[in-house]
Amino acid sequence: MSDLNKRIDKDVDIIGIDLGTTNSCVAIVENGQPPRVITNENGDKTIPSIVSWDGKQLLVGNEAKESIFNDSEAIFSVKRFMGTKEEITLGGKKYSPEQISAMILQYIKTRVEVSLKRPISKAIVTVPAYFDDSQRQATINAGKIAGLDIVRIVNEPTSASLAYGLDKLSDDMKILVYDLGGGTFDVSLLHLHDGIFDVMATSGDNHLGGDDWDRRLEEWIISSAKALYNKDIDMNNHIIANKVKGYAEWTKVQLSFNEEVTVDISDLVGNEGASIVISKIEFEELTKDLMDRTKFPVEDAVKESGLDPSQIDKIIMVGGSTKMPMIREYVKSYFGRDPEEGVNPDEVVAIGAAVLGSSLKGEINVQLNDVIPITIGMASYDGTMTPIIKRNTKIPCKKTDIFTTSFDNQDKIEVKVTQGERTMSEDNKILGEFEFIGLDPAPAEEPQIEITYAIDENGILNVSAKDLKTGKFKEVTIKDTSGLSSDEIRKMIADAEKFKNDDLQKMKNVELSKIAWEYIELLVKYVNENPYDKLPYYKRDRSIAWIRKMEGFLEKEDYRALRVNFIAFQFHMYVTMYEEIKKGYKMNFKTDFE
Ligand code: AMP
Repeated sequence: MSDLNKRIDKDVDIIGIDLGTTNSCVAIVENGQPPRVITNENGDKTIPSIVSWDGKQLLVGNEAKESIFNDSEAIFSVKRFMGTKEEITLGGKKYSPEQISAMILQYIKTRVEVSLKRPISKAIVTVPAYFDDSQRQATINAGKIAGLDIVRIVNEPTSASLAYGLDKLSDDMKILVYDLGGGTFDVSLLHLHDGIFDVMATSGDNHLGGDDWDRRLEEWIISSAKALYNKDIDMNNHIIANKVKGYAEWTKVQLSFNEEVTVDISDLVGNEGASIVISKIEFEELTKDLMDRTKFPVEDAVKESGLDPSQIDKIIMVGGSTKMPMIREYVKSYFGRDPEEGVNPDEVVAIGAAVLGSSLKGEINVQLNDVIPITIGMASYDGTMTPIIKRNTKIPCKKTDIFTTSFDNQDKIEVKVTQGERTMSEDNKILGEFEFIGLDPAPAEEPQIEITYAIDENGILNVSAKDLKTGKFKEVTIKDTSGLSSDEIRKMIADAEKFKNDDLQKMKNVELSKIAWEYIELLVKYVNENPYDKLPYYKRDRSIAWIRKMEGFLEKEDYRALRVNFIAFQFHMYVTMYEEIKKGYKMNFKTDFE
């Protein structure tokens, strides 16, 4: 049982981050107000989880997404590589999945700081329920690199049900969360009663998501380009591959709203006016097997919970891919009932995390009892895996087992921690291993070594071994599974600082440009509305000169010149429009230029 109450000071902000495969979202609960999603200066609620290199600099979020069509290198869906040793190359430099995720987290942190105008240091980050220990550790490491203290990792479906159930705390209901994102599929079944969210079962597929639907459309684009325009598309060329991916995703999203979509592929085949057409029915045929794959985890979670499908009261759809009509229809036909309306699949997870943040501060009284998604065990000498903590056990939890030696005078035992549902260790994931050395000489099977597995509320594992005869003890946090040492993390934190400053500067530039355009528009309007006899010619001429000058800086994106000239520009406006300002027009004078 997690005690969520009064652990963190009320004055400390805790943001809730849904670090999605394709898009991320951030929310906050401030002073007990309803949770809200934090937007950027354009009002966008989601942030593309993309990092790119445009030849000069690294870009994140919207800018990275836009840059794909301008021949930049881009990294999508880095979440799929979390917890692996995959190396990602951008602009000739190699990065770990944690570093790329950290760039996204840092960008989100900066967005929030610019919006709230105060520093942020704490966050709750959501992960797919089906994430294993190494993927959770990698997420925490990404937070560290980004300078964010991740106070809790929470499962995405649990987070979504927290947001959904917030105004229904006195109800008693069983909720099924169907969460199909960009790269992962999760199903969780929860029992909400007396303000307690009890996760009954969770299941999923770590390698199924909207990206798979995209890939089918990529294949369709490639084969159509060949069939109709006799063009071989070189998917080994990153830039071309990214474009194809961009077109594929666009087509998929369009097919959620249209019966038929035409895709212009002129630049792919080098033939002006080249286009291909796909209908919704064809698309559904093309991807039917993917949709069918979501059936197994649903059936598995229902079975694990011991419920009958008819006992489920509410179905919540989470994740961008549930916007595909075929998915909603499929869920409806499986359960014989409509999923809940009014749940925004893009925002509900981040909102739940923000609610959990508020609850950690003691502002809201809810209780979360989550479970571990995948069995954790120990590899035995005979190659099998001995399960220690079974999947769907409530966390935090602790389990102990006694092990012994296989040979006479064996002086050490090897503890190999594995995670998975298969019988043989080699078919499961090895989370970490350590040797327990210095056993006293003894006949085989005499020593008694107590091995304890403890899982905290974040789903992170600690393993300890104790020789019951000598009392010798060793404890290990299984944290190096993603291959990063603390030294490496420290170095990455230092690297990330530089990136953070670049990012902050970029956002400040955007903010300054916005004000500058606003003032220019105002001045243009003022000049146009005031005839020559009212506006002395020198004021008019000067205004026109200022408008041209400032427009020039904005168009050339010369932010240095913009900053240097801004005070003088404001002063000119103040003097020129003095009468207006006296009448009550408020100008927000900007004085802090960094
Ligand atoms: P998430 O990981 O929850 O951000 O989900 C992202 C996935 O949802 C990506 O594969 C998107 O392409 C997909 N997605 C977002 N909006 C739509 C839509 N309207 N129709 C189909 N798929 C969508």
